[in-house]
Amino acid sequence: MSSPEAAEPAFPLPRIGVGVDVHPFAEGRVLWLAGLEWPGETGVSGHSDGDVVAHATCDALLSAAGLGDLGSVFGTDLPEWHGASGAALLGEVRRLLEADGWVIGNVSVQVIGNRPQVGPRRSAAQTAMSDVLGAPVSISATTTDGLGLTGRGEGLAAIATALVLRR
Ligand code: MG
Repeated sequence: MSSPEAAEPAFPLPRIGVGVDVHPFAEGRVLWLAGLEWPGETGVSGHSDGDVVAHATCDALLSAAGLGDLGSVFGTDLPEWHGASGAALLGEVRRLLEADGWVIGNVSVQVIGNRPQVGPRRSAAQTAMSDVLGAPVSISATTTDGLGLTGRGEGLAAIATALVLRR
């Protein structure tokens, strides 16, 4: 699936996309976030590793390129992707974009939740994501002042924005 012909501008413009992901915390699970394992933190439930940063980024990139979303690309009818790591999904999304003639400009992701504290490992998380995507990745974090599912400590969310350019 490529961009609708009628929507193509007269000259190539960068395109942005947005992606959101949320997973509930689950005791006894390892936390994976931004392609990193976070020892001592509570993990989240889900078919996969539940890496909300990776998943939100995949959706943002696919949306920016007009290539669908995680559900349409890695649907439940594709058993080879069942349980795939966030990093593996990111790598495949990069491959799909490049095969369709896109270059990733940059990605910005905000983690929303009470834990983990992102600051101390921000640099490592950004590097892990950038290494997979071959583009700069900025990771920020915020809480919601006790409001909503993240504020109550029920889960972890991430919102990502991606910019892509025609090669
Ligand atoms: Mg997810």
